[in-house]
Amino acid sequence: MYTVTDPATGELIEQVPNATDEEVLAAIDRVHRGYGSWRQRSVAERAAIVARAADLFAERTDELAAIMTLEMGKRINEGRGEIGIVVDIFRYYAERGPDLLKDEPVAIKGGRAVITKGPIGPLLGVMPWNFPCYQVARFVAPNLVLGNTILLKHASICPRSAVAIEDILREAGVPENVYVNVFASSRQIPSVLADPRIQGVSLTGSEQAGISVAVEAGRNLKKSVLELGGSDPLILLDSDDLDESVNVIATARMRNCGQSCNSPKRMIVMAEIYDEFVDRLTKRVADFYQPGDPADPATKLPPLASVAAADEVAAQVEKAVRQGATLRTGGRRIGPGAYLEATVLTDVTREMDAFYEEIFGPVVVVFKAETEAEAIELANDSPFGLGASVFGTDPERSRRVADQIEAGMVYLNSAGGSQADLPFGGIKRSGIGRELGPAGIEEFMNKKSIRL
Ligand code: NDP
Repeated sequence: MYTVTDPATGELIEQVPNATDEEVLAAIDRVHRGYGSWRQRSVAERAAIVARAADLFAERTDELAAIMTLEMGKRINEGRGEIGIVVDIFRYYAERGPDLLKDEPVAIKGGRAVITKGPIGPLLGVMPWNFPCYQVARFVAPNLVLGNTILLKHASICPRSAVAIEDILREAGVPENVYVNVFASSRQIPSVLADPRIQGVSLTGSEQAGISVAVEAGRNLKKSVLELGGSDPLILLDSDDLDESVNVIATARMRNCGQSCNSPKRMIVMAEIYDEFVDRLTKRVADFYQPGDPADPATKLPPLASVAAADEVAAQVEKAVRQGATLRTGGRRIGPGAYLEATVLTDVTREMDAFYEEIFGPVVVVFKAETEAEAIELANDSPFGLGASVFGTDPERSRRVADQIEAGMVYLNSAGGSQADLPFGGIKRSGIGRELGPAGIEEFMNKKSIRL
C-alpha cells in the first residue's frame, strides 16, 4: 500500500493500493512500446520537451512543495528550493544534452571511426522519499534527452509526488508510454529486473535496497546505478569567524532535517578550536532549531519523514549514549508526529555503533583531531565515501587535505550541496556511478563504435 501520513501530526491522509502483477507487466509493456518511437525522435525534439518540463516545474513550485511538506514533512521553503534545483536539472540537460550527445570522431589505426551516443532502452527507477522531486529529476532528465524510456517506482510514502511528476511530464509533451509511474511494491522489483524488456536500473536509497536491486540486476546482467547512504566527514581546520563557521555547519547538517545522503554528518574539528566550537554549536543547535509546523515558513526544525524514521534515529542516539557518548543537547522524541529534538553528540569512539553508522536525522556528531593527519584518518575511517567538506582559511592546506579524502565529492568551505552541472556520486558503500553533469547522461548510454 502507498500511504500518505502527515509526519507533523501522524494523521493518515490517503492510501493507494499497490499495482497488481498484471499492472506491472502492462507498465513494462508500455515503456517497451514507447521506446521504439521515442528513440527515433531527434535529440532537439526530446530536449525541447525536457525544457518545457523545466518551465512547468517552475510554475508548479508551490503545489509540489506543499505535497512534499504533507508527505514527508519537508519545510515548505526547502521544498521550494528543491524545485529550484529540479528546474535547473531539466534546463541543464535540455540545453547541454544535444552537445553532450554529438558523435565523437576517433583516430584509429588504418582508418576512421566515430562513437555515437544513443540510448539503451527502457529503464527502471527506484526512488526515495527524502527529495521526492530532485532524486527523480537527476535520473529522468538526462535519460529522456538521451532517448531512454522510464518506469518509475517511487517511495511508498510519496504517491502524490509520484503522480504530480508524471502529470507535469505528460503536460510537457512526454508521451504516455515514455514515462510511466507504477505503484509497484519492492517485492515486485526482481520480476521487473528479470524482464528482458528492461535494460537497466537506477536506485537511490538505503544500502539494503541497493544490495537487493544490484543483486537482481547482476543476476540478469543489467547495469545498475546506485546512490546510497553516506556519513560525510567535515573537517574544520581553522576559522577566522567561528560563529559564522558554526552557523554554516549547523545549517548544512540540519538541511532536510538531516535526511540527506550527502549531509555532513561527522564534524572533525582541530583540537585548538574544538572546545569553543562544541560550546557554540551546542548553543546554536539548542536555541535555533525548535520544532514547528513544516508548512510554516518560520519553522526551523520540521518532523522527520515518518514516525518509524524518527524512532530509528532516536534509538541510534540512545544507543550511542548507552555506549558512552556524551549527549550535549537534544535526543528526545517529541510527539505527536515524527519529531526529534536537534541533537549534538561528542566523544563517539570507534567501539560505538554510531561511529560507523549513517545517522539519517538532525544529529551532529563532533570529533576532535590533534593533527591534520589524524583528521584525515578519522574522515577516511568509514564504510562510506559519498561526499566530504574541508573548511579552513588557507586554500592550499584545504586542497591538500581534500586530495587525501576517500570520497566521490569534496566541497571546500561549503557543505552538502548539489548542482545540475556537477557530477554527484560516491565510492565504497555509498554507491556506484554518477548522476548530474556530463557524467549523468553517460550511465545508460550506448557508446557505439562505428568504423567508417
Ligand atoms: P529505502 O532504501 O528502503 O527506500 C528507497 C526506495 O527503495 C523506495 O522506493 C523503496 O520502496 C525501495 N526499496 C526498498 N527496499 C527495496 C528492495 N528490496 N528492492 C527494491 N526496492 C526497494 O529507504 P528507507 O525509507 O528504508 O530509508 C532507510 C535508510 O536509507 C535511511 O535511514 C537512510 O540511511 C537511507 N536512505 C538514503 C537515501 C539517499 O538519499 N541516499 C534516501 C533514503 C534513504 P518502498 O518505499 O516501497 O519500501
